[in-house]
Amino acid sequence: MKLDRFISNNTPHSRQAARLLIASGRVTVADERVCDPRFEVDQFVAIRLDNTLLQYRPALFFMLHKPVGYLSATRDPQHPTVLELFPAELREELHIGGRLDRGSSGLLILTNDGSWSRRLTEPRVKLPKTYRVTTLRPISSDTAERFAAGIYMTTEQLTTSPAQLEQLGACECRLTIYEGRYHQIKRMFHAVGNQVDTLHRESMGAIQLDPALRPGQYRVLTAAEIASVD
Ligand code: URA
Repeated sequence: MKLDRFISNNTPHSRQAARLLIASGRVTVADERVCDPRFEVDQFVAIRLDNTLLQYRPALFFMLHKPVGYLSATRDPQHPTVLELFPAELREELHIGGRLDRGSSGLLILTNDGSWSRRLTEPRVKLPKTYRVTTLRPISSDTAERFAAGIYMTTEQLTTSPAQLEQLGACECRLTIYEGRYHQIKRMFHAVGNQVDTLHRESMGAIQLDPALRPGQYRVLTAAEIASVD
């Protein structure tokens, strides 16, 4: 792994901050000062930041089939949370890369790698996220066009990136969006006079919900799935 990735995985510093720390000569590898953030390291070599030995924390990456009714949160006094589906020793470490509403289901990614998960969610990365949506009213013929043009969000005062809608039935579609704003799909349908009934995330970028996972089950991401977000 690259030295900047090692620093950001094993300290609270972001990848960007890690690069600055390395460039300013504050990092040693096997007692040699290294100023190249792309220097290759592994967990068996002693890496120090300001003379403090960094403890290697293995990176964790999971996909969960989120069931309806679970909150995308660490803990909640009222509702079960997705973290409660994981063993207690992992709960403190993991965070969610792209939340789903309590009533939504499908692909949820959890990791302890903050710089990796930021690329899943940052609007400027424009990672496609695909959802299967059912609505309370028939989807009108101009909805696909309006979503493709972008929907103006009054709270953020911005227009959503062009989204693709594939109609699957009168009240059912597959929708691909490129951001993950708060209640984005519900607000997009509300803006065209409709209402979401069910929402199920099928994929994030190249990572597809594994059909072998039943609601509440999870598995480790493959190396190819992790690399697809880099
Ligand atoms: N958009 C929503 O409105 N809800 C979700 O859970 C995901 C996307």
